[in-house]
Amino acid sequence: MSNREIRVRFAPSPTGPLHIGGVRTALYNYLFAKKQGGKFILRIEDTDQTRFVAGAEDYIIEAFRWCGIQFDEGVTKGGDFGPYKQSERKAIYRQYAEQLITSGQAYYAFDTAEELTALRKKYEAGKKTFTYNAAERKQLKNSLVLSEAETQKLLETNTPFVVRFKMPEDRIVRMDDLIRGEVTVHSNVLDDKVLFKSDGMPTYHLANIVDDHLMKISHVIRGEEWLPSLPLHILLYEAFGWEAPQFAHLPLLLKPDGKGKLSKRDGDRMGFPVFPLQWTDPKTGETSRGYREDGYFPDAFINMLALLGWNPGDEREIFSLEEMAEAFSIDRVGKSGSRFDPEKAKWFNHQYMLKTDNKELAGLFLPFIEKEGVMADIGYVEKVVGLVKERAHFVHELWEQSDFFFRAPASYDAKAVKKRWKQDSYNQMSALKVLLAGIDNFSSENTEAIVKKWMEENEYGMGVVLNAFRLLIVGALKGPHLFDIIALIGREETLRRLETGLHELGRKE
Ligand code: GLU
Repeated sequence: MSNREIRVRFAPSPTGPLHIGGVRTALYNYLFAKKQGGKFILRIEDTDQTRFVAGAEDYIIEAFRWCGIQFDEGVTKGGDFGPYKQSERKAIYRQYAEQLITSGQAYYAFDTAEELTALRKKYEAGKKTFTYNAAERKQLKNSLVLSEAETQKLLETNTPFVVRFKMPEDRIVRMDDLIRGEVTVHSNVLDDKVLFKSDGMPTYHLANIVDDHLMKISHVIRGEEWLPSLPLHILLYEAFGWEAPQFAHLPLLLKPDGKGKLSKRDGDRMGFPVFPLQWTDPKTGETSRGYREDGYFPDAFINMLALLGWNPGDEREIFSLEEMAEAFSIDRVGKSGSRFDPEKAKWFNHQYMLKTDNKELAGLFLPFIEKEGVMADIGYVEKVVGLVKERAHFVHELWEQSDFFFRAPASYDAKAVKKRWKQDSYNQMSALKVLLAGIDNFSSENTEAIVKKWMEENEYGMGVVLNAFRLLIVGALKGPHLFDIIALIGREETLRRLETGLHELGRKE
């Protein structure tokens, strides 16, 4: 392998929303390039017009923008090797198909779709599979069988044709994969793949090889589903006389139970997204959820994905994109599939909640508070967030953990009342109210010290007092340290809630 500049690419086909497995592939490419000071390119592979889906390309671009994965060259960026969209490179490919025909490594095939379907059916009836290969090509309608004059005539009369690769016979194709090591395949099991279609467009195989070559791609890092195409790709490089890039095929992302590839259906069934952003299918109108809309931080999402298949070789789990790039190495990408764990995904988001500065978090939480019809001071929200973020995985869960900081309980949890509002509670809470009314320094430490002393002197059970107290302040047995709560809502609000609660719950008979 020569000393090439490191250039990698992510080459999605815009056939729908990007699966998180695709985001992971792009991420590993990005990290690989960043680590080595290389370039990362976004190329859109849209040669299959039958699979075009409106909005998919914009979706892909927006998904990477959200994730914070930036390209050095590509459809959004431009660059010296553009255009970066294959449909805009259409004029380039035909000459390469012709080059292989001239050198005898590809040929024109004039068999119609109907003829081939009929052949397939015939074979199926005899419990065999039809393959367009070295054995079969000799009796089909192609330029290897027809005379030159016949072929010329068909071409001149605009007879539809495809260009097929003439798969070499009796070859052992050796491939080196950076993750799997050496892989070998016998060429006789491979077919004569179509390189150029009757609609004037190249197939994925031809366009992919030509573009990787022209764009000087040094490493192709892509999903395992492309491994079966690798022998053909290697042989195509050989046929053109080009140096092939190095290949790395990434293992699959597996279902949470480890049985098979993670699919959209698993997400729907088990309640987690398999797409970075929400997606509405333009044909069916069906909407699939996204990590962004589910409330994930983009950094947490990326961090979670990076560790699904790669490990840094130590126990670290939390990485910024820069730290990941620093630590990344393709040698530490596993050979076997990685099981997706929806709980771990939430755990990552929680870790990022804890890491996020309270001021920033308060800003993110504010719209949720306003949606509840509450006007809150941002400084106050910041303090609330500091007390409750430990208890939530997502910003949108903060309200459930902190509503009582913003409004007095409208009701009292019936189960808790039954269990925790005891015969002594009314008298104890009345006395506590008097006690608290006399405290000027309402800091958490001070009220806690005074209330604890008072409980001890009166020999009141701590659990009994504090549960009843919490019930009146919060309306339920939830929330952070009680004295932190009252310090924040303040003395007057605390006394008001005690008053209301005493009135509402009354004496227990
Ligand atoms: N267009 C292919 C895809 O959609 C790219 C495969 C490759 O990276 O070679 O995944």
